[in-house]
Amino acid sequence: MKIIMLGAPGAGKGTQADKIAQKYSIPHISTGDIFRKNIKEGTALGKEAKQYMDEGKLVPDELTVRILLDRVASDDCSRGYILDGFPRTIPQAEALEKKLGELDDDIDFAINVDVPDENIVNRMSGRRACPKCGATYHIKHIPPKKEGICDECGAELIIRDDDKPETVKNRLKVYHEQTQPLIEYYDKKKILRTVDGTKDAEDVFRAIADILE
Ligand code: AMP
Repeated sequence: MKIIMLGAPGAGKGTQADKIAQKYSIPHISTGDIFRKNIKEGTALGKEAKQYMDEGKLVPDELTVRILLDRVASDDCSRGYILDGFPRTIPQAEALEKKLGELDDDIDFAINVDVPDENIVNRMSGRRACPKCGATYHIKHIPPKKEGICDECGAELIIRDDDKPETVKNRLKVYHEQTQPLIEYYDKKKILRTVDGTKDAEDVFRAIADILE
């Protein structure tokens, strides 16, 4: 099963992708996580990606596509995967489709987690992340058991640079201009399914599980 998660930044794609990955035992692949890992490790890729990420801009397609195609070629992806944060542009979607086409393969579903902009700005301001293991929380919707501390590894939670208000506004603008056209793109391919992302995470997950079954 190969699934793409679509939706604005902060719509809850990552949370849902985690749940789906667990239920179907397939890897959850987030290009944002791959970039953040590289930034933390100080790699050349991380240094290049950081310049764009800190401003809420997209990392160039060529670099992003290369990283993603490399990742999905790994052994653990043979039974499928769930993509969270990729594709974010039409050229990225086309590059993935071309690669899958060469393998006589295709994406099964593109799930659009639909949340209006007003809700997004509210949500992002409550987002907290673990700088050590990458787990994400929300002070209201997905609070850690102990305030400010990661459930998984005990590190102190932070607000990611790209979750700061100015960057959020920029990310939303970028989303509408460059990523939203993918909704029509996958609708035309008849694999788009939309769920109401304003509901509780559990309800959203039930709606997605119904689609996948
Ligand atoms: P995310 O964690 O998915 O919200 O991604 C955080 C940041 O990483 C984005 O704001 C972009 O700067 C960059 N990024 C992640 N995925 C992509 C992608 N598919 N294409 C371009 N930039 C990306």
